[in-house]
Amino acid sequence: MGHKKKKHTKKKIDKFTGQELKVNSRHHIIPSSRNGSSDSYNIAMIDDHKHQLYHHIFINMTPTEIIEYLADYFWNGNWSFVEEALQNHCLEEVGYDL
Ligand SMILES: [Zn+2]
Repeated sequence: MGHKKKKHTKKKIDKFTGQELKVNSRHHIIPSSRNGSSDSYNIAMIDDHKHQLYHHIFINMTPTEIIEYLADYFWNGNWSFVEEALQNHCLEEVGYDL
């Protein structure tokens, strides 16, 4: 790698824990090893520690593969959680209170 990008110091609140999260690490949503680009739409700025943990479990899986892996391996093949999450997400997008 040529030059180092300046680290961001912006902060975010974790909606599940209420903790302040550092966003100091550049994550490729589609991994570069899977031909993911380095354009901004494929980069998420996330907490460095969580970034390491993510790749510890998910290695270089794509988001779709991760969802499949979670449903099959961690949730006994129960895809209803994915369906429920999508429904909640769509309702949030429309602006309903859940
Ligand atoms: Zn990453």
